[in-house]
Formats: sequence, structure tokens, C-alpha cells
Amino acid sequence: MLVPSQPSPTQTRLGNLTVTTLSDGFLDVPGAYFSNLSPQEHRHVLPTARFGANTWLIEAEARKVLVDAGSGSWLKERFADTGNLGWQLDDRMEERAAVTDIIVTHMHADHIGGLVAGGRSLFPNATIHMQAAEWVFWTDAALPQSVPEDQRPLIELIQALGTPLKGQIKLHEGEADLGGGITLLPAAGHTPGHQVVHLSAGTRELMLIADAVVSEALQFGNPDIHYALDGDPAKAAETRKTLFDRFASNKIPFAATHLTSTGFGHLERSGSGYDYTAA
Ligand SMILES: [Zn+2]
Repeated sequence: MLVPSQPSPTQTRLGNLTVTTLSDGFLDVPGAYFSNLSPQEHRHVLPTARFGANTWLIEAEARKVLVDAGSGSWLKERFADTGNLGWQLDDRMEERAAVTDIIVTHMHADHIGGLVAGGRSLFPNATIHMQAAEWVFWTDAALPQSVPEDQRPLIELIQALGTPLKGQIKLHEGEADLGGGITLLPAAGHTPGHQVVHLSAGTRELMLIADAVVSEALQFGNPDIHYALDGDPAKAAETRKTLFDRFASNKIPFAATHLTSTGFGHLERSGSGYDYTAA
């Protein structure tokens, strides 16, 4: 598949809401991160797969709601093509100050790194919406010692990124209506408090599903394929299947963080899996 080197932002309107996809760049992920594949599916796994890194800005009248913020400068050593949004740059200060709300889908560094630089929150005026289960899990002081040593640096990074945000965070337990047609829905599995965003205007709906699906080449055809960074792979697969079923049944356009497409796509049932069409 051909992947553009510089994805252009796409904009979608839904009632009063304008949804703009902001690409933070790309991540090259080892094919070995995928498991629970049939021998036939194994043949489609590339040594590395290029993932997108999409974030979204939802604008509605006076509100500017950011959904995740990309990696900032934190993952550049491992993933050179991330952090392209450059939220930390001085000339973006006004833009950052105007953000009223931030939805954190989950606390992995490729989603929250762009919120912090130099030990300070970059979006001082925003309320940050997160599931309580997510915050409690990642900020547990005992967590770094409870994981294998090679995973410790990433957890320490997440904890360091969380600290400056603490005073701005509004924790939600389960479904949360943010008003104006913006609703948070818990979608655990990838992480304990992973959440997705449901947007509605009248009978029209859109969904932003973050990391509920990560590989477009593998997981639409077979949603049971596991991903190494899923905290609970079986639960992640259940969540993925519930969402896919809803998208196909109700023809809901959706977008996800790591798809290479920056736009919204559709699913149709095909055998035991789904066919994805980018809009
Ligand atoms: Zn991610």
C-alpha cells in the first residue's frame, strides 16, 4: 500500500461540530507485535507496519476540544516520524491557550506526550477528560516495580507526563456526556480505562475509536488478532468486535488513531470479519 509521507488534514462537519484530523506523523511497528493469526494471515504480516498517528480537534461554537495530542518530543528516538504536530513550539501558544477541553483516550505516551513539555502542561486552560480507571492504573506508584524491567522506562515516562496535568483532570466513571453531542464511551482492553468518542447531531453519528483497532491490514479482516501493546488482548478483541458490529449494523463512519487514513471510513461484514472502506 502507498502511504503519503505528509498526510493532509481532513475536515468533517456534523451539525454544529467541525472535526479536523490532525496527524502527528507515523509510527513503524514490528509485525511481530501481532499474534493469534492463522498461518494464512501470517503471510500478510510485514516485518514492520506503518501506522498513522491521528489526533482530532472538534470545534463547536466557543468550544475547542482536542482528542489526544500525539507524542510531543518524547518518542522521537524510537519513532523518528512522530511529534510532527509540534504543540510545544512557542508560536503555538495562542492556539494552545484556546483549547477548552482535552479528551485523553488513554495514557500511552503517543497520545499524551504532546500535552507536556519542560515539566509543564502545554494547555493550561483546558479541562482534561479521562476515565478514572485509566488514571488510577497508570499513576499507581507501585506500577513501575510490578512490570518487567524493559517496560519500566515507558511507564515512568507516562507517570512523568501525568504529574503536571493533575490539577486539570476531570475523571469520569463510564459513559460521560460532555454536551453538544459529544459523549465519552468506555472501551477497555487496550488499556484499563481506554475510551472512545461518540459524536452525534440529530440522527447522524461519527465515532473516534483511538486504539480499539490498530492494524487496518489485519484486524478488520480478523478482529480477533491480538496486538502486543494491548493490556488485555482478549478484552481488546471483545471491545473491537462490539464496535465493529455497531459500525456495520448502523453504518456509522469512524476514525482511529493508527489508521493511515486521516478520514472517516465504513465497515461492511465480510465472512467472519469486515471490509473497510476509507471515505
Ligand atoms: Zn496508540
